[in-house]
Amino acid sequence: MKASPEAQLRLLELADLDTELARLAHRRRALPENAELEQLAVRDAEVRDEMTRADTELSDLDREQARAERDVEQVRVRIDRDQQRLDAGKVSNARELESLQSEIVSLRRRQSDLEEVVLELMERREAAQARRDAAEAGTEAGAAETAAVTSRRDAALAEISEQESKSSSVRASVAASVPAELLALYDRVRAQVGGVGAAKLRRGKCEGCNVSLSTAELNEIRAAAPDEVLRHEECRRILIRTTESGL
Ligand SMILES: [Zn+2]
Repeated sequence: MKASPEAQLRLLELADLDTELARLAHRRRALPENAELEQLAVRDAEVRDEMTRADTELSDLDREQARAERDVEQVRVRIDRDQQRLDAGKVSNARELESLQSEIVSLRRRQSDLEEVVLELMERREAAQARRDAAEAGTEAGAAETAAVTSRRDAALAEISEQESKSSSVRASVAASVPAELLALYDRVRAQVGGVGAAKLRRGKCEGCNVSLSTAELNEIRAAAPDEVLRHEECRRILIRTTESGL
């Protein structure tokens, strides 16, 4: 294929723009905010689980506490009843009196044990409530952080899109100035090798694959006409000669 040296040089501009566009696409994929948002979502799920666990524990404890308080009340009512019988002086039989007094003693012990249980349940409830409050605060902090990171990510995406659209429009105008056949070759090579379809020959080295050309290859290039479109055998890219080529 033949193309003017000027047209060939334009391929280097295209290659630079393609490199820039690839860099922008990579930046979009690798935005650190995306990883941060994933981590925040994981943490959010964890604190929500913790909240659910605390809620379950709280309702269990509420039920237990209500039961224990009912038990305390029952015992208290029995003590009152016994005490009233005692105070009314209705019990004169010595054995009955003794049995009533001993029942009151054992009921008081039972009441004290049950009150102990209620206190312990209240303490456990307090601890569960504190865990729930901390988890809830965690979800709120997480939501605020997520909003901040999302807005940072959106700003970065908007900036990337803007740069992309600039580079794409410059690429379109450069591409329009390249002869169709040469442009088609460039795009084909680019699709095959990835990255860019053309590279500069600089000081005897292909800048596309960083491989130095052999003396024989360089001699062939020296002998080629300036409008001959050359390819690097090693990487198949279109090789562009410039004043820096070392020919
Ligand atoms: Zn090469």
